[in-house]
Amino acid sequence: MRILIVEDEIKLANATKRALEIQKYAVDVAYTGTTGLDMAIGEDYDLIILDVMLPGTDGIEVCRQIRTAGKHVPILMLTAKGQVTDKVIGLDVGADDYVVKPFSFEELFARVRALIRRPKNTTDTILKIQDLTLDPQSFKITRAGKDIELSTKEFSLLEYLLRNKNRVLSREQIVAHVWDYDADVLPTTIEVHIKHLRDKIDAQHNIRVIKTVRGRGYTIRDE
Ligand code: CA
Repeated sequence: MRILIVEDEIKLANATKRALEIQKYAVDVAYTGTTGLDMAIGEDYDLIILDVMLPGTDGIEVCRQIRTAGKHVPILMLTAKGQVTDKVIGLDVGADDYVVKPFSFEELFARVRALIRRPKNTTDTILKIQDLTLDPQSFKITRAGKDIELSTKEFSLLEYLLRNKNRVLSREQIVAHVWDYDADVLPTTIEVHIKHLRDKIDAQHNIRVIKTVRGRGYTIRDE
């Protein structure tokens, strides 16, 4: 799942990026509102973390313009302590939730997880297909009750497939939601990661859950 952070405080932005990357998200950072707005509209993020206090175009205006552009991506606002009006205006212009600075990463992760699962299924936090399970909170993956170890990218890829199960996902969609902007994604990158994922989750089982749909992409399917 891919996240954009829009925050002009470079240290905070970079520390948040690193913390989220450890949580297996692909993360981009924009240090100004205008860059953030361009990236938010030009790319397909699963979540945007948007600071209200930005020089030039502020977070409220960025949020308003993202919604005006027709983007429904979840937006989590970062507001300064005591700025109650920022929260109210932020929610009015289409933000989904807010975190008050200073925040702990644990609090941020909880909000991020809640917003990323919101559009799909609000109660079931464990992602599942047949006898394969993925817990986005503990990163535990099991197939037929046995634990499976995946690399960060394999985990992200499996999470993205599971969150969109029974849908065919193109290579472009997979790249947009699993890799960050700076990643070197070669034409073979997806195939290589899918192969590694299959070796770990499908190879020893009669039912293969990851399917290749010729000319269109990949899907993880109940059948
Ligand atoms: Ca700021």
